[in-house]
Amino acid sequence: MTTITLREASYWSATAAPPTITERAFPQRVDVAIVGGGYTGLNAARELAKRGARVAVFEAQTFGWGASSRNGGMALTGLKESMSATVQRFGLETARALFQTSLEAVAHVERVVHEENIACEFARCGHLELAWKPAHFNALQREAELLERDFHHRVRVIPRAELHTETATTYYHGALLDAISGGLHPAKYASGLASAADRAGAWLFERCRVEAIERNNGSFSLRTTRGTLTASAVLIATNGYTTALTPEIQRRVIPIGSYVIATEPLPLEVAQAISPQRRMMYDTKHFLFYYRLSSDNRMIFGGRAAFFPEGPNTVRESAEILRRGMVEVYPQLANVRVAYAWGGTLAFTFDMIPHAGQTRDGLYYALGCGGHGVALLSYLGACVGRYIAGEKVENPFFTLPFPTAPFGLYDGRPWFLPFVGLYYRVRDWLE
Ligand SMILES: Cc1cc2nc3c(=O)[nH]c(=O)nc-3n(C[C@H](O)[C@H](O)[C@H](O)COP(=O)(O)OP(=O)(O)OC[C@H]3O[C@@H](n4cnc5c(N)ncnc54)[C@H](O)[C@@H]3O)c2cc1C
Repeated sequence: MTTITLREASYWSATAAPPTITERAFPQRVDVAIVGGGYTGLNAARELAKRGARVAVFEAQTFGWGASSRNGGMALTGLKESMSATVQRFGLETARALFQTSLEAVAHVERVVHEENIACEFARCGHLELAWKPAHFNALQREAELLERDFHHRVRVIPRAELHTETATTYYHGALLDAISGGLHPAKYASGLASAADRAGAWLFERCRVEAIERNNGSFSLRTTRGTLTASAVLIATNGYTTALTPEIQRRVIPIGSYVIATEPLPLEVAQAISPQRRMMYDTKHFLFYYRLSSDNRMIFGGRAAFFPEGPNTVRESAEILRRGMVEVYPQLANVRVAYAWGGTLAFTFDMIPHAGQTRDGLYYALGCGGHGVALLSYLGACVGRYIAGEKVENPFFTLPFPTAPFGLYDGRPWFLPFVGLYYRVRDWLE
């Protein structure tokens, strides 16, 4: 076994410069207070500031510290579930609107990166969904037919015999290629967004946790670790890091850990064989692997290596599980050293789609994309920002009911995750 001498840190954060933020006095009153400084909060802040709103973003750690600097950097089309499953759950018309929004979301990221000149390696490199079982390949074929027939969206099905043109592995039974998806360097994107929001006039406060929010006569009073202030509107942009600060929202999101390793840079010919088109890749397992190359040819390999609550050794244990997974898929990487390992928390919802809107208490929110938040939460954050600024926004994620668990069985502490993890492991094994 290769010894792992690794840095327990996000490779992305280690290779991104911090944002440029103007020093400002702590405000007493703002139009909009945003809790959480990841893609959602920063996209909303940028839109609001450009429309002349007095907007402040409060981030408990540093900008992008949450999932926004730890993810796979895949700006994907579609949702966590297939469109076949989405049609079954919501009907064709709604599924079409949701899918269309996912395409707009990728275009939104591309536009913002271009307009703000964010050097985050954004490229429309496409994604490959890789079939882990022969039956999964049949399902991908049916999905491709559905996308073309009912969504007018063309993807390509790649049979096993041709997969070597896309990636040097015999582990999978074919793939679905969607050329519209993009890839980027997540921490450079987050840092660029923070600088862009600052340039637009948003007030950004790092290491400033919001500890309490109270409603008073139609406005909100926020207590933070740096002082208190009043806001006419509040946006909750805390996704997987949502706490009892907002119990109504906390009951609707399920925090899930996901883990990633980055190897040392691979020899050029090995990297080229693994991904000649530098695609974003993920597979069809419930305990899925997702991976891609970095610009310096490291393998960035992630997965839901652990469903159990995070402990002091979780990152290291997950790194070893992921390294073994990576070598199963690509035996040619058996002697490649793992240089970085990290984890992060994303948010699922009970109906597997993201939601944006306003709670009964009047708090705005946008969250819950599973592993599709890079594009979708950027876009939903921007849409909520425009909505708060008074623009008409038509977005299907705003109108769907936001469910919680039945019979009050969930208070935001996901006691059921080990059982869910076990259930999905068994399904992966059986299917
Ligand atoms: C390992 C991993 C891999 C992923 N890979 C992909 C991928 O390849 N493609 C994709 O589309 N999606 C992926 N995702 C999901 C994606 O990263 C997230 O959906 C997205 O980054 C969420 O952005 P956000 O701004 O809503 O939340 P976050 O970036 O998580 O930010 C929330 C912030 O809120 C702050 N906060 C919480 N409470 C408070 C408070 N009281 N006061 C102040 N601040 C507070 C936190 O400190 C945190 O920084 C991945 C996620 C993880 C964890």
